[in-house]
Amino acid sequence: MANIYDLLIIGGGPAGLTAATYARRAARSVLVLEKGAFGGQITWSPKVENFPGLLSVSGTELGDMLLAQAMEQGAEVELEEAVSAVKDENGLFTVGTESGAFYTARTVILATGAKPRRTNLPHEEELIGNGIGFCAVCDGAFFKDRRVAVYGGGNSALQDALFLADLCSEVTVIHRRDSFRGEARLVEALKQRSNVRLLTGTVISALEGEDELTGIRISTAGEEAFLPLEGLFVAIGHMPDNEAFRSLLSLDAAGYADSGEDCLTATPGFFVAGDCRAKSVRQVTTAAADGAVAALAACHYLDA
Ligand code: FAD
Repeated sequence: MANIYDLLIIGGGPAGLTAATYARRAARSVLVLEKGAFGGQITWSPKVENFPGLLSVSGTELGDMLLAQAMEQGAEVELEEAVSAVKDENGLFTVGTESGAFYTARTVILATGAKPRRTNLPHEEELIGNGIGFCAVCDGAFFKDRRVAVYGGGNSALQDALFLADLCSEVTVIHRRDSFRGEARLVEALKQRSNVRLLTGTVISALEGEDELTGIRISTAGEEAFLPLEGLFVAIGHMPDNEAFRSLLSLDAAGYADSGEDCLTATPGFFVAGDCRAKSVRQVTTAAADGAVAALAACHYLDA
């Protein structure tokens, strides 16, 4: 008879690994399945300076520490296991992966995170963390007194630009449409800043720089120009990846899992934590907080 885990956690980012640590400390059997790299999105960040108690740490180090902590507590982990389906069968969950493996658990925590949308321009992957970022609140401080651009036209892009305007020497906001999608008051606030330039009807056509970003090529109504800069923040949305689990939870219009702050879903025994759930702040601290809440809720469910 296959092992039946108390908790099976899908995703080994900050939410999933924190959930694993909390559940193990409650003496529950735990398996974490991770399809890519343990640590999740934060491993793309060269420096994290806003995780409580750690002055400065690389994202990879932070991911390694979260993994080591969960394993030290006795969590089992499997890498290169992409979960493709979860079935609720009379109070037991069967979890299938793309490799053809099946696992059984009494509770499941979905902690699959979200990915920032990419520009999909050549060299983007090499320049992520070397000039290209997705989180101004996280990485803006590294561009103090430098020239940056924000790519996007929604509220996130406009808020990022306002945040950066307090730090950077120049902020150029680039949006492909003729008017911004974000709130008018944010656009007005940006117009008041002397170091902010708003470019609408403009797309980025190329990223320049070998090891570090040195500038971007932009195209406005077919006219090309080169914009020298040190930082580019891409704020064109995030992509959660929750479709495979739709039968067990409700998703909002953007594909995020609906839940309360208690991380419960509509399916008893099925919980959600971290960036994959509908919420307003997506950071390591909030993902870790969700992991703790979801794990303790799962333990409570198992006790009932
Ligand atoms: P993720 O970190 O996205 O982890 C989810 C994990 O689930 C991933 O490892 C993924 O591979 C895995 N997964 C997905 N689907 C499946 C599946 N079907 N089967 C198995 N595994 C799956 N936050 C800060 O607080 N401070 C910062 O300085 C900071 N800097 C950032 C810099 C960058 C470049 C980026 C992209 C983000 C940054 N963030 C920062 C945000 C932070 O990384 C996220 O909020 C946090 O990682 C979310 O944690 P999570 O566990 O919910 O999701």
